[in-house]
Amino acid sequence: MIIADQKPLSEIQDMLAPYRKILLVGCGTCMTFCSAGGREEVATLAGTLLSENKDMTVDKMTIPQQCAVKFIDRLADKVGNYEAILSMACGNGVQAVANRFPEKPVLPALNTQFIGVEKEPGIWTESCMACGDCILWRTGGICPITRCAKSLLNGPCGGASGGKCEVSKDRPCAWQEIYHALKRLNMLHYLKEKPRVKDWPIHPGRIVREDLREVEAA
Ligand code: SF4
Ligand code: SF4
Repeated sequence: MIIADQKPLSEIQDMLAPYRKILLVGCGTCMTFCSAGGREEVATLAGTLLSENKDMTVDKMTIPQQCAVKFIDRLADKVGNYEAILSMACGNGVQAVANRFPEKPVLPALNTQFIGVEKEPGIWTESCMACGDCILWRTGGICPITRCAKSLLNGPCGGASGGKCEVSKDRPCAWQEIYHALKRLNMLHYLKEKPRVKDWPIHPGRIVREDLREVEAA
């Protein structure tokens, strides 16, 4: 999932300064699971804004996803009543809502951090950089691009100590983890193979699926 956290309240207040009628919108998917912008966080932020801005109207709404047009459309008959939308979605959701309502300021209440997982309650870690050419099948399910501090593709740098990365003693050496995973899976032969030339993505990414377009057009 995409992981985000809330912007400092002072920054949110600065963004909202020109507006008095705000629609605060949460997201029911990633932002709910990472406790950054679900129903609960929407209620908390709305309460804080109302208590700090006595002349402000803040109405709230949470839709299942802010990155899917069919759910964004649920806002259509409401946005006209507000001066701005404050979105508690990831940057992707904020842009999707802004694209749907180009006449309305859509402001981000969150800082989108990364694609990751919850390691334990209250701790999330990055696990994928969406490189477009996944190699997890030959790295024991551990991503060296994301989890090695130098994104090395051809093995460890040699600086690890006691299983920890030389860049930060707080994190394990990804290549040491890859070695142990491949050993456990009886796949160590992958370490002897030359890494393939990586086909890095060009941004902004775009996928065209002609099969789906044909179905839609039929
Ligand atoms: S190789 Fe790493 S960055 Fe690329 S898609 Fe796989 S997990 Fe994501
Ligand atoms: S110590 Fe391991 S994780 Fe850290 S930069 Fe070197 S190879 Fe990558």
